[in-house]
Amino acid sequence: MPEIQAENALPRIVLTGRPNVGKSTLFNRLIRANRAITHDRPGVTRDRMEGTVLRSSLPAFAVVDTGGVTLGAHAAVTEGPEESRGFEEDILRQTETALAAAAGLALVVDGRDGLLPLDEHLAFYLRRTGLPALCVVNKVDGIEREDELTAEFYALGLPVVAVSAEHGHNMPLLADMLAALAPLADAPADSPAQKATTLRLAMLGRPNAGKSSLVNALSGEARMIVSTIAGTTRDSVDVRFARDGWDYVFVDTAGVRRRAKITDSVEKYSVSSALKSVGKADMTLLVLDAAEGVSQQDKRLMDLLNTRKIPFCVLINKCDLAPRTALKQLEKNIRAMLAFCAHVPVLPVSANTGHALDKILPLAEKIHRECQARVSTGQLNRAMAEALAKHQPPVVKRVRIKFYYLTQAETAPPTFVFFVNDAERVPENYVRYLEHTLRKIFGIAHAPMRLHLRSSHKKK
Ligand code: GDP
Repeated sequence: MPEIQAENALPRIVLTGRPNVGKSTLFNRLIRANRAITHDRPGVTRDRMEGTVLRSSLPAFAVVDTGGVTLGAHAAVTEGPEESRGFEEDILRQTETALAAAAGLALVVDGRDGLLPLDEHLAFYLRRTGLPALCVVNKVDGIEREDELTAEFYALGLPVVAVSAEHGHNMPLLADMLAALAPLADAPADSPAQKATTLRLAMLGRPNAGKSSLVNALSGEARMIVSTIAGTTRDSVDVRFARDGWDYVFVDTAGVRRRAKITDSVEKYSVSSALKSVGKADMTLLVLDAAEGVSQQDKRLMDLLNTRKIPFCVLINKCDLAPRTALKQLEKNIRAMLAFCAHVPVLPVSANTGHALDKILPLAEKIHRECQARVSTGQLNRAMAEALAKHQPPVVKRVRIKFYYLTQAETAPPTFVFFVNDAERVPENYVRYLEHTLRKIFGIAHAPMRLHLRSSHKKK
């Protein structure tokens, strides 16, 4: 019997979404019990439910079902963000209460209904919380229609996973992806003297992409056993080496494929176990195989790294194996997949020929430096004035959005907070413009960045 009350210590993943998308069924599948009541009618009132997800291959985590959406006066209209405002606020309120203690968020949508304005609005809201998030496309009953039914949801800028809560399709993958939203291990603290010059690198990618070969080539020693058979490196080891006055550590060099058995190697490497080493590193290198292209799992990993604001770059390894035009095309495809994180560098390399290997470590260092960027309030507000002057904030519902003040809240990743008159009204494309401008002015080209908008009544 699975426990219904999650232990406090477990990371909580909150399920949210429009009524009737199948959150309760999904919740029941995940906790493998039948506690939440599901109905075909939208808005059946329930209490917020919490349960524990236990899978032998994954760390335990809690899920929260924010199903308790009550239909109020606005219930009749469910289409469109404008008309359904009251309704939508109910969902947001439910989500908000659950959010206080959330480690991550899953926006559940209905693959048969397609992408609705309310889904878009919820996604926008979720992204603004800064929590790692996932888009779960439910009611996709077979693998055949997966691509067709999920395509439009990529526009939400979240990692996408297609499932059928009713038929159990893709549930192990979903559990893996949800587990991957939980907090990562903290990087072990180096002594202060060491810290200044040590760069910790995590290398991710499917088995046989060439991770060990790259570690060997970069560290200049054949420390790891490289083999064409996937899954031959057994132990998780840190590889430490020095170069140009810097100390480098490749963390968990074998951990990346520890769980991958030879039989289920290529497509099924677990994203949540891959992310474990990411938590111990300052920078992540995602290794793709030029001859194999980008797998679904690679794509999910990129989206997860993006939603978690992990600094990373993409290495297309074995570029010696791909003809020039094919390589260009692959680069283009990857760029398109990274549309929501255009700052991520993509670098074709070859562990075998040595092509572009000399660029990897300097790039990693540069990204790491950018992550540490700290900008003074004075500089920030001059930059904001410049951005506002170049492109005025838009008028939304006859009111021009006012920007009062800009401050930096955090580093790693650089996090900036804009104080405005009405944060809810700032359109996403204007937020993107602001990000682009700050990146340009402060030379933050490749690091992830967070922008928060906060409503404030008066000028500070
Ligand atoms: P890992 O599982 O990601 O650590 O992959 P390995 O480093 O074990 O490499 C898998 C296979 O790909 C080995 O046979 C390597 O020799 C080969 N390989 C790795 N990098 C390259 C490369 O740049 N070019 C070519 N042609 N083969 C490579």
